[in-house]
Amino acid sequence: ELAQIGVTGLAVMGRNLARNFARHGYRVAVHNRSYAKTTSLIDDHGDEGTFVPSESMRDFVASLEKPRRVVIMVKAGAATDAVIDELLGLLDEGDIVIDAGNAHFPDTRRREAALKERGLHFVGTGVSGGEEGALNGPSIMPGGSPESYQTLGPMLEEISAKVNGEPCCTHVGPDGAGHFVKMVHNGIEYADMQLIAEAYDLIRQGTGKSAAEIADIFRTWNSGDLESFLIEITADVLGHVDAKTGSAFVDIVLDQAEQKGTGRWTVQNALDLGVPITGIAEATFARALSGSVPQREAARKVLPADAEAWQVDDPDAFIEDVRLALYASKVVAYSQGFDQIAAASEEFDWNIDRGAMAKIWRGGCIIRARFLDRITEAYQRDPELPLLLADEYFTGAIGNSLAAWRRVVMAAARHGVPTPAFSSSLAYYDGVRAERLPAALIQGQRDFFGAHTYRRVDGDGTFHTEWSADRSESPA
Ligand code: NDP
Repeated sequence: ELAQIGVTGLAVMGRNLARNFARHGYRVAVHNRSYAKTTSLIDDHGDEGTFVPSESMRDFVASLEKPRRVVIMVKAGAATDAVIDELLGLLDEGDIVIDAGNAHFPDTRRREAALKERGLHFVGTGVSGGEEGALNGPSIMPGGSPESYQTLGPMLEEISAKVNGEPCCTHVGPDGAGHFVKMVHNGIEYADMQLIAEAYDLIRQGTGKSAAEIADIFRTWNSGDLESFLIEITADVLGHVDAKTGSAFVDIVLDQAEQKGTGRWTVQNALDLGVPITGIAEATFARALSGSVPQREAARKVLPADAEAWQVDDPDAFIEDVRLALYASKVVAYSQGFDQIAAASEEFDWNIDRGAMAKIWRGGCIIRARFLDRITEAYQRDPELPLLLADEYFTGAIGNSLAAWRRVVMAAARHGVPTPAFSSSLAYYDGVRAERLPAALIQGQRDFFGAHTYRRVDGDGTFHTEWSADRSESPA
């Protein structure tokens, strides 16, 4: 009997995705460039369902029912192109190729266009949740044609995470929309992690509490508005003790954060679109700063702190301030991420439903959180909401946090604790709500040195002032 779906690329992610399909009763064709991974999957997990293993790509394709559905789960980049090339000669019109790896969305757009010419559907699909998610239910963000989603969608929905019985999978939009949304998901993940790290650092430096004590604080936070996977694992990481030294695990880990590139892509794209995603950008740069070893060494030797020593008077009140500041900053980071999705949706004609994105991120993925329900509700109240922060629920929540947020950022500055994400989120908040911005002065400067012109508050048209002559104004 022919297989209903195939997975090629059986490293941790592909292997678990294949098992997930099999456990849901699908007959799954499996293939990997080197056959050893295929045999090991069958040896270790062959009894979990119906697997149809093939050593060659040709046999793999032949083992699939038509229209064929082939999931590619290999290293993103050149490997994906190599596999697509190999598949092209073997597939027939109407077949569906699903790239479930972490592709950069412009690559997905390119591949989709190329395969469409050959009569094939190409579905760039974001998958979040790591190996655990791939096996037990990830959040799935498929792009591609609506037509391909008709047959593929139900299968993906079935293996996805469920929240209140609803699948964490929906058709995101055409061509690269799925991979785009996955990219922004990862960017938000960066911001969320950085904000949590800053909250931890503030509490540690302000109160002198131990990592284990702060783990308990995060555990408490996880039963309130901040309840999320990242807060939960933060408590676990902070509570972990290094077996070798008996010290807190966080104290023995080198403080240089790495990245695989999706945060960088998110920031690069935001620059292209002109969307201020300051929370994600600061988080990405904070990782870069942590890894700037020669700079940090040079700075440590000579740069004075000129900051006051710190011991907060009322630790409980301070910790509550940090919690509120964290929530408010987090709302900013998400609001910015959703702005980026809206801008790209407009740019590429994707028609992405932002509320639906918040919904499919509620389970399976790394940023899953209680708070996403509030975002879905906000977009249900107003699908065209221009700014998530301006939704009535979030204005209320931020209103309650604002004084605390300002106190925390002030204390961080006074005591020399770096809080790029907390501080920049507050600056964004104050910027976006300002009646007037000093951008007016920048327009004057630009007109002065480059005759770049400006508009006036009291009428239409563009103008230029003769800065180096009599400073008269004329229409431009
Ligand atoms: P890797 O990214 O480590 O890739 C290894 C797989 O790619 C192996 O199956 C390997 O085959 C195959 N491969 C590499 N080069 C080629 C090539 N030129 N031709 C054919 N096959 C090739 O695997 P992961 O399982 O970690 O990730 C798979 C994808 O999922 C990646 O795109 C990744 O970014 C994405 N992803 C990963 C997550 C994670 O938590 N790891 C989470 C979400 C997405 P061989 O065994 O023969 O070397």
